[in-house]
Amino acid sequence: MIDIHSHLTFEDYDKDRDLVIIDAKKVLKAVITSGVNPEDSKKALDLYEKNKGFLYLMLGFHPIYANKYSDKDLEQYIEFIKKNRDKIIGIGEIGLDYYWIKDKSEIKRSKEIFVSFLELAKEIDMPVLLHTRKAISDGLNIIENEDIRRAVFHCFSGGTKLAREIWEEGYYISLATSIERNKNMKKAAKSVPLKLLLTETDSPFLSRIDGERNVPQNVNIVYREISKLKGIDIGEVERQVSENIHTLFNI
Ligand SMILES: [Zn+2]
Repeated sequence: MIDIHSHLTFEDYDKDRDLVIIDAKKVLKAVITSGVNPEDSKKALDLYEKNKGFLYLMLGFHPIYANKYSDKDLEQYIEFIKKNRDKIIGIGEIGLDYYWIKDKSEIKRSKEIFVSFLELAKEIDMPVLLHTRKAISDGLNIIENEDIRRAVFHCFSGGTKLAREIWEEGYYISLATSIERNKNMKKAAKSVPLKLLLTETDSPFLSRIDGERNVPQNVNIVYREISKLKGIDIGEVERQVSENIHTLFNI
């Protein structure tokens, strides 16, 4: 089993990060950790260097930071990512967040930044991992306009119709540990073809118990739910999801 999206650099793990990774290694084949801003991405790069072969790295820019960095900061950050191109397997997470960002000018800025990271992904030939909280349609339109071919909608919890628009374009849908309490995720687990499904925890977030810290090995919940909802053997789910991850990220 593989967790395609986590944030193992976050302070939630400051006291026992090494132990968390040792425990995850006992159960999982690999974990992808994702840098969300310039400072976090430096930490993520260090953590990746210490755990090569198990930990894989994505670098991106979370939309909630849109107003916290200047254009110059972002230019430098994009150069930093380009310089480390050989160490990453994708650009993410990037996207839009209409749950936290309501101010029009901030939304506009977050869109511009999103597009600049999509341009980066094209330039260095990388897949993208998308954060589209309350913004799935806009996210989909933007990546189609930008002619992005390899993308995953992380923590997807939209309806069946939106899910179909996404997978019919050949984009992937990633379901998270919160699937146990999320009806839309359950519907997606049923309706999205297995060859376009991925599995994640978004650790330290989205734990099965609200407020508790999540850990990567909890991704087994997602495999179990997909298996149950599709009525397919869990071994088959593991095999196909591994193949999907290999196809998209080449790991
Ligand atoms: Zn995340």
